[in-house]
Amino acid sequence: MIGLLAISGEGAVVANRREFLTSAGLVSAAFVAGASRAFAQAGSAAVRPETFDYVVAGAGHNSLLCAAYLAKAGNSVLVLEGRGMIGGGAKTAEVLLPGFFEDLCSSSHHVFARNPAYRDNEIEIRDYGYELFDPEIVVHYPFADGSSMTVHRGDLDQTAATIERVSKKDAETFRQLATARQKVAGEDPNSADPSREALFFQRLDVLSAFDAARQLWESPQMQAAGISGGRWGGVPGSDPGTGSQAYSMLTHMNGRPMPVGGSGMVSTSLGRFIEAHDGIVLTNMPVVQLIIEDNRCTGVECADGSRFRARKGVVSTIHVKHLMAMAPSELWGQAFTDSVDIWQPEHAMFAFHFALKGTPEYPLAAGGSITGAEASIMERPESIFTLNQDQARGELTLDDYPLQIVHAAGYDQTRAPAGHSLLKIEGGMPYALKEGPEHWDAIKDQVADQVLDRYLRYTPNLSRDNVLAKVIMSPLDIERMNPAMWRGSVHHLDKRWGNFAPYRMPIAGLYQTGACTAPGGSVTGQPGRNAAIAILEDDGKTLADVTGKG
Ligand SMILES: Cc1cc2nc3c(=O)[nH]c(=O)nc-3n(C[C@H](O)[C@H](O)[C@H](O)COP(=O)(O)OP(=O)(O)OC[C@H]3O[C@@H](n4cnc5c(N)ncnc54)[C@H](O)[C@@H]3O)c2cc1C
Repeated sequence: MIGLLAISGEGAVVANRREFLTSAGLVSAAFVAGASRAFAQAGSAAVRPETFDYVVAGAGHNSLLCAAYLAKAGNSVLVLEGRGMIGGGAKTAEVLLPGFFEDLCSSSHHVFARNPAYRDNEIEIRDYGYELFDPEIVVHYPFADGSSMTVHRGDLDQTAATIERVSKKDAETFRQLATARQKVAGEDPNSADPSREALFFQRLDVLSAFDAARQLWESPQMQAAGISGGRWGGVPGSDPGTGSQAYSMLTHMNGRPMPVGGSGMVSTSLGRFIEAHDGIVLTNMPVVQLIIEDNRCTGVECADGSRFRARKGVVSTIHVKHLMAMAPSELWGQAFTDSVDIWQPEHAMFAFHFALKGTPEYPLAAGGSITGAEASIMERPESIFTLNQDQARGELTLDDYPLQIVHAAGYDQTRAPAGHSLLKIEGGMPYALKEGPEHWDAIKDQVADQVLDRYLRYTPNLSRDNVLAKVIMSPLDIERMNPAMWRGSVHHLDKRWGNFAPYRMPIAGLYQTGACTAPGGSVTGQPGRNAAIAILEDDGKTLADVTGKG
């Protein structure tokens, strides 16, 4: 554990505790962007080659994973990250107070846990500090009237028992759904003769989560819980096709593992892996231009004018909307240009971070209290409709937005000093306020205070006095911290519609990975691994050759 902490926080810029307290812990987005010095700074290497087999532009977990496969294949690899810290949406930093290691964006790695890179140890990141823990109390859903439900990992009886305290009928429905899901999971999804259960779920899934929840559950609590805990993929449950969100509690029963030391450990361990395979990872190196020779991409130019050449290929995780301005427009082709023009941002996210004295505890109606890794808060199922409306109008309706709460330090003592904890309140809010996105800078502290006060109503053991420091990230700050999160889209774009960028881009020698490619955003590592498969194939290799697996 101590070793992991050292890696996670290595070289982090730590501000003086009193400074943080006197300034109410406010940290600028620029500070967050430059918070860690875990990897080499631009210009720090005395002798550095300028030509590599592959140059990777951007260091999100996907491009780092892709670079790790390329390095493992024996290639020389250079990774250039524009910000002061690698990881993009998978970063953990000591931005609140010394000893508090906060996830600036993601926390849950439940999809990455199933990626063969980790699951089958294709890339040995466990050896470089990546280790998952799987909280037993996965998500708690508290309500203002004192009622609540809790998802216990892998435990249908315990989870259903908490539902039964709200509605016997809903608990029975939950059990039936669990049985039906299990049956459907064992069936061929392409069967010409699907079971009645499969047809039921197909029908349910095309509805909006709001309609599906009202179909399934009698209690407003179960309706609201399904919708609020189902929204985490980015699409609000008011939209058609989100019906599966209505039974998101069943999905959460599979568990939501997180890395020991914080989400950033995936990036740190991949960075270490790349360096151990003779790769170079540089921070503070924003790529501003692609080098094109004979219509082929042969390298990149950074903001400081330094140029790096790639013998075999350039791999980008830069948002494609930005990347297209880095090469002559005619090289992309009209069809590709049109298909990217039509990309829409998704609902933007905010993330409010707090260092706490004490740990959030939610009272239980039967007595006692509970603390888990995450909580989900929304009182009324119909509140989900405010998100689309506010997005269209650029307005805020703060009273009942769905809130996703992460407070995993209780499970991972490397994250906060004894007797203290971390609180992350996150969710969707419009990026483009009617006064313009910059208006966020004027209102974000007030918005965060309101959201915090709303949250504290559910945890009577805490008050504002327990807050030792805070870092408030508006949707605009999220984009400033990571330009790939275009207009606050944490999955880079509205991924519902597919139409992702290809791994092999229209310009020869240029590859794309990251959330702009299939299957889109979240911490999955899938775009990173998929891009590696395509790139290795063009180099006459297979993933199995490189990993010795499969
Ligand atoms: C508040 C919040 C909570 C989230 N929670 C979760 C969660 O719990 N679980 C989950 O699965 N997902 C979560 N997500 C989403 C997830 O973080 C992202 O979808 C995911 O990290 C995308 O990974 P990526 O590797 O594709 O790209 P990114 O992580 O976006 O990385 C792109 C990188 O490229 C760099 N870059 C961009 N342009 C340039 C340039 N021109 N030059 C050099 N570098 C450049 C960026 O600085 C960044 O480091 C959350 C996101 C946010 C913001």
